[in-house]
Amino acid sequence: MIVSLKSGADAANVLSELTGRGLWVSRVERSTSGGAVHYVIAPFSQPADPEDLARIDGVAEVTTPKPAHPMVTAQGPVVEVSGLEVGTDKPIFMCGPCSLESEAQVRETAEVLSSLGVSFIRGGAFKPRTSPYAFQGHGDVALEWVRRAADATGMRVVTEALGEGHVPAVAAYADLVQIGSRNMQNFSLLKAIGKTEKPVLLKRGMAATIEEWLLAGEYLLAHGAKGVIFCERGIRGFDDSTRNLLDIGAVALLRYVHRLPVIVDPSHGLGRRDLVAPLGRAALSAGAAGLMIETHPDPRTALSDGPQAVPLGELGALLGRLVSAEEAR
Ligand code: PEP
Ligand code: MN
Repeated sequence: MIVSLKSGADAANVLSELTGRGLWVSRVERSTSGGAVHYVIAPFSQPADPEDLARIDGVAEVTTPKPAHPMVTAQGPVVEVSGLEVGTDKPIFMCGPCSLESEAQVRETAEVLSSLGVSFIRGGAFKPRTSPYAFQGHGDVALEWVRRAADATGMRVVTEALGEGHVPAVAAYADLVQIGSRNMQNFSLLKAIGKTEKPVLLKRGMAATIEEWLLAGEYLLAHGAKGVIFCERGIRGFDDSTRNLLDIGAVALLRYVHRLPVIVDPSHGLGRRDLVAPLGRAALSAGAAGLMIETHPDPRTALSDGPQAVPLGELGALLGRLVSAEEAR
C-alpha cells in the first residue's frame, strides 16, 4: 500500500499516525516531478483500511499497487500433492536420507517412514555438492528405487531436479519436484519445471530475500506449475556455530502475511541432529505446514550429511515429540 502526502504536509504527524496503527513504512519514495513524498507500507497480516489512512491529516491519497507476484498472491495456503493437502492444520512430514544410496537403504527407510505415518519420502538422486569430488548421487536408477519403495509402502516422493536435463525423469518419478537452494534463481530451470505442471517444493536460496523467493515462485506458476510449496532451509549467517541461520520470521511472514504453505527443513537449517526437535517445534509454532527431516539407517556410513541425519531408529520418538507439542497448542 502507498500513502502519498500532500505538499507541505506534516510528515512527522503522518508517520506517527501510521506507527500508531502498528504499520511499518518499508520505503520512502519521492516523485521526480514536484517532490511529493510517498510512504510504502509493508504488507501485514491484517491489512490496513485504505479509507482510514486516507483520513489522516496531510495524506493526499492511498493506493494499492498490483502485486509483483500476482499468481503467488492468488495461490492460497493449501497445495494438493497426489491427493494430499499440504498447508492445512495437520503437519506434513517429508523424511529420508540426504542421498538415495542403495535400493535396500531406500526400501528400509520407506518401510519405517510409512509405519510412522510420514507422507513423503525424500532423498536426492542428483546431489548439489560443494566439491566436485564429493558423492554426486546415483542418478536415474535412484529415481526408480525411490518410486518402487514409495509405491510399495503407500508414500509420496519428493526429490530434486538439479539441472534442466533431469526435469523429465524427476517429473515422471516424483510427486513433488524439489528445487534446491542453489537453484532458486536458475530461471531456465524454473521455467522447465513449471512446464511439467507438477507441484513444486521451492527451497529458499541461501542468500535470497523473501521477495526474490516469492518471485521465483511466480516464475514456476507463470510457466504452469500446479502449485508451489515454499521451503525455508536457512540462510547464510555470520556465525559458523550452525550450518545456516534458520529464518523462523520468514515462516511466520509467509504463513500469516502472504498466506502460503511453508515446509521447514531444520536439518539443513542447522546442520546438526541434536537441534532438529527444538527448531522443528519452533517452526510448527511459527506456522509451518510441515517439516523436512533428514534421516539415515546408519548416519555413520552416510555418503552425505551424516552429522545432521537423525538415526532412522530414533525418528519415531522425535516425530512423537513434535506432534504432541503441536497438539498441545
Ligand atoms: C537437499 O534437500 O537435499 C538439499 C541439497 O538441500 P538444500 O538445497 O536446501 O541445500
Ligand atoms: Mn542433505
